[in-house]
Amino acid sequence: MNDRNLAATLLFALLAALPACKPAPPPLTAGIDIAGMDKSIAPGDDFNGYTNGGWIKNTPIPSDKASYGIFSMLADQTRTRLRDLIQETAKAGSAAAGDARKIGDFYATFMDEAAIQSKGIAPLKPELDAIRAVKDRRDLARILGSELRADVDVLNNTDLQTPNIFGVWVTQGLTDPSQSYPYLLQGGLGMPDREYYVSTNPHMADVRKQYLEHLQAMFGLAGFTNPAERAHRVLDLETAIAKVHATRVESEDVHSAVTWNRRELASKAPGLDWTALLTAAGLNDVPVFYIWHPKAIPALSKLAASEPLDSWKDWLAVHAVERAAPFLAKAFVDESFNFYGKALNGTPEQRPRWQRGMDFTSNALGDAVGKLYVARYFPPETKAKVQAMVADLISAFGRRIDALSWMSPETRQKAKAKLATLKVGVGYPDHWIDYAGLEVNAGDALGNQERAALFHYHQQLAKLHQPVDRSEWWMTPQTVNAVNLPLQNALNFPAAIIQPPYYDVKADDAHNYGAMGAIIGHEISHSFDDQGSQFDAQGRLANWWTKDDMDHFKTASEALAAQFDAYKPFPDLAVNGHQTLSENIADVAGLLDSYDAYHIALHDAADPVKDGFTGDQRFFISFGQSWRDKIREEALRRQIATDGHAPDQYRADTVRNIDAWYAAFSVTGSQALYLASKDRVRIW
Ligand SMILES: [Zn+2]
Repeated sequence: MNDRNLAATLLFALLAALPACKPAPPPLTAGIDIAGMDKSIAPGDDFNGYTNGGWIKNTPIPSDKASYGIFSMLADQTRTRLRDLIQETAKAGSAAAGDARKIGDFYATFMDEAAIQSKGIAPLKPELDAIRAVKDRRDLARILGSELRADVDVLNNTDLQTPNIFGVWVTQGLTDPSQSYPYLLQGGLGMPDREYYVSTNPHMADVRKQYLEHLQAMFGLAGFTNPAERAHRVLDLETAIAKVHATRVESEDVHSAVTWNRRELASKAPGLDWTALLTAAGLNDVPVFYIWHPKAIPALSKLAASEPLDSWKDWLAVHAVERAAPFLAKAFVDESFNFYGKALNGTPEQRPRWQRGMDFTSNALGDAVGKLYVARYFPPETKAKVQAMVADLISAFGRRIDALSWMSPETRQKAKAKLATLKVGVGYPDHWIDYAGLEVNAGDALGNQERAALFHYHQQLAKLHQPVDRSEWWMTPQTVNAVNLPLQNALNFPAAIIQPPYYDVKADDAHNYGAMGAIIGHEISHSFDDQGSQFDAQGRLANWWTKDDMDHFKTASEALAAQFDAYKPFPDLAVNGHQTLSENIADVAGLLDSYDAYHIALHDAADPVKDGFTGDQRFFISFGQSWRDKIREEALRRQIATDGHAPDQYRADTVRNIDAWYAAFSVTGSQALYLASKDRVRIW
């Protein structure tokens, strides 16, 4: 069906016409940014202000972003690099084959705005027709099932939200590491969390009003009659769904998950036609499921039977429009941004189209794009150096475990065993995903996106019939992030985060350990935090701690939760210390681990003063600057409601729990961040 020469020519023509093809900005550099500091602020009063105040004062958030900082700068740089790589691939012309051709076609088709515009809603019509033809609850279940995708990830990336009725995650069993199972999660909401539907906070009430208007606009654009009535029906149905949803904090409880066999699904969650749903989802032959939300899933099943069929049909239709909107004509793209960009995140302007196209391509063909990125930007020398740094951090963590006064010998032995079997992935996976089975057609932007999501789903379902692969990656190499995988007892550090300003082979140790080292330590410590402490060396959910050890850990954790509960970015809103507890423990532990590893790397010699700062000062300043970020009010409110991570400004202040920070900056008892020695949280 495809002519690869045509595709390559088409891509090239489009790229040549791109106004955004400005020369790439100079690459980001590592080292302390002295101009970005504000030395008029005492480090003991406001460490984030001291390390980042100058930058905060002088840097506006770009109008197409909800937040701006090191993460987004690096992500922008990565996108520019990927765009240039794709351009080169296109220039190869007929030499482009296989994955390169697919990457080129996917991107070029998305960029051909005129062709997309001329088709209007036509690409979505077959799907809307199928929804219109739904005549009974069996049809409803079939369509609900056909829409399920591998779109959530509870323990690795903590993506808990899906607009589909259920989210599916495929990985090894919580209590059975020997094989993979499907996990079912609650879903069905168009807004990010149940809070948006049930909260009485005036800000949330205002977002709800805007959501209703947005739903009405989407129905109108898609040519439906009575858009206002339909919008109300959808909001009513989603509010009923939100009321039976578990909260964000409840969803983090690994002990609430249960296993149900195929028969129990129907008997314990009556309402839905499960045979129709599971058959359409390709899950009907699965004997056992992990049910992550054993209260919400039966309640959702009941709503599928009790709520009017017409409400469900409107819900299906508008969700289909929302999903397709970024790949349809401009009016859909703009209305989608109007709500999901402006109202939910406070972002004034949309990002340039090429950036969106790059992200969609990078998600659809993740490993294929990653391979290109790694070949150009991740030399073997960097991989080897970071692997050595990881080994140092693991051994420093081991020494910390040995030195813990509160830990019993039994627990200590198991902790060391878990550390010894930790599998660390640096840069990119050992095995790449094969995209031979993915069809990418020039000229079919929406179809390409849908086939890619289905391909990913099928690739995940295939794991149900394969041996468990502990080396599986859960981030692409071009992702600016890092992740701990509790069920695999493994870590992924993608190539795109092992870059300046986090890491540079040429930067000094104080910098590399303060920034990248603390990130590595953070991920290592997740294996031993409130979640990780519940998974053993094989990744099995099993209590390997003695009761006394767990009691000590919980008491220390509570103090950290209280520390974060006290942070109030707005008078009406505080950080949720429990929702963010795992991440905050990891920040404290990671920073301590990296501090130790830094001194091991120095062989306990003093690091000379540079730029007027001692080695320890530079280490902590690098850490503070690695959290450099500005965020809009709407986006910050959304983060606090839905995210397991505390706002970056408070993460920079993690230093207040570390004794060496007090010595490095002569922090005194009268200063705002000061904690008496007994109040500093010491877990590891
Ligand atoms: Zn984390």
